[in-house]
Amino acid sequence: MLFAKNESNQIVSAQHAQRKAFYICPYCRSQVILKSGAVTIPHFAHLKKRNIACNNVETIEHHDVKYMIASHFKETGHHVQIEPFIKKCHQYPDLIINHKFAIELQFSKITIQNIKKRSQGLISCGLKVIWITKGIQYNDKTKILKLNKYERTYIDVLNQQLFVWDSATMQLFKYHIIQFLGGSNYIALREIVDYQLIDDLFKRNLPEIEFKNLKLTSQAIQQYLKRCRSSHSVLQPSLSVIYNYRLSESWVCSHLGIVYPEQLYIQSHPVYWQLQLIKMIRTQDTDTEQLSKVFKFNQFYAYEVDAFDIACTLFKKFKNSYRLMGCNDVQN
Ligand SMILES: [Zn+2]
Repeated sequence: MLFAKNESNQIVSAQHAQRKAFYICPYCRSQVILKSGAVTIPHFAHLKKRNIACNNVETIEHHDVKYMIASHFKETGHHVQIEPFIKKCHQYPDLIINHKFAIELQFSKITIQNIKKRSQGLISCGLKVIWITKGIQYNDKTKILKLNKYERTYIDVLNQQLFVWDSATMQLFKYHIIQFLGGSNYIALREIVDYQLIDDLFKRNLPEIEFKNLKLTSQAIQQYLKRCRSSHSVLQPSLSVIYNYRLSESWVCSHLGIVYPEQLYIQSHPVYWQLQLIKMIRTQDTDTEQLSKVFKFNQFYAYEVDAFDIACTLFKKFKNSYRLMGCNDVQN
């Protein structure tokens, strides 16, 4: 670990520690010793390795990163509290900056329900909350960020951003989530967090880039259809619409897979839900109960998606697009 407590209970980084001084682990309070050599960077190690809860690599990293981020905020002139007890909600957030910003680090998996509950608790105490996670896949060339259904919970969806700790470079990154593309793919731009500008972390400052009329490529749609076919069932919901309305694959590829901005809230694949809406439009079975069953929604830590409102908006938008598709299948 990179931080320990000295005899006066102050947090000291291994870089500034003295070889003969006495240090304890701030987590389990057992004695740690300073290690530094020609090859290894200065760090603390527990003197006794047996029965120590923080031998867990994840716990130690969580702890190190928390102190590292805390010291960055302190160095840039902010007021920092580490694991303060918030009486009103009975919670210990990892960090509170300037008495109003709560930062939670989560490097191990907890339930989505737990993430939402902890966020709600802090928000109800008047704090603004962000979460920092780690181990997210990103390709800087294609700008594709991969997020599974769990990792999406950490998106600050109103501000369209996500904070990720990079263990390799020991840097905190902010990802601007531009758009969801179906599957686990997002378009995102990333930047290194500037600790001085803390207010910026909690507000929307998307880069001036507009992604208009996004549509999945034919190749991506063919891949999706291939996955559907691998279920070997005509009852597969996307294929069933394609067969029943005799849509050709080339028609589906050139017209469907439209990515509306609202897709950010939706887990269902764009081709899937657009086919289901075609079925509803064709059968004129457009009651709202039916409509809300079409979409599966993502979950976010501090935002309750208005499922009904989004479903209606998308139905309207898609219906207009569908009209413009004109002669739309083999049948016509
Ligand atoms: Zn310890």
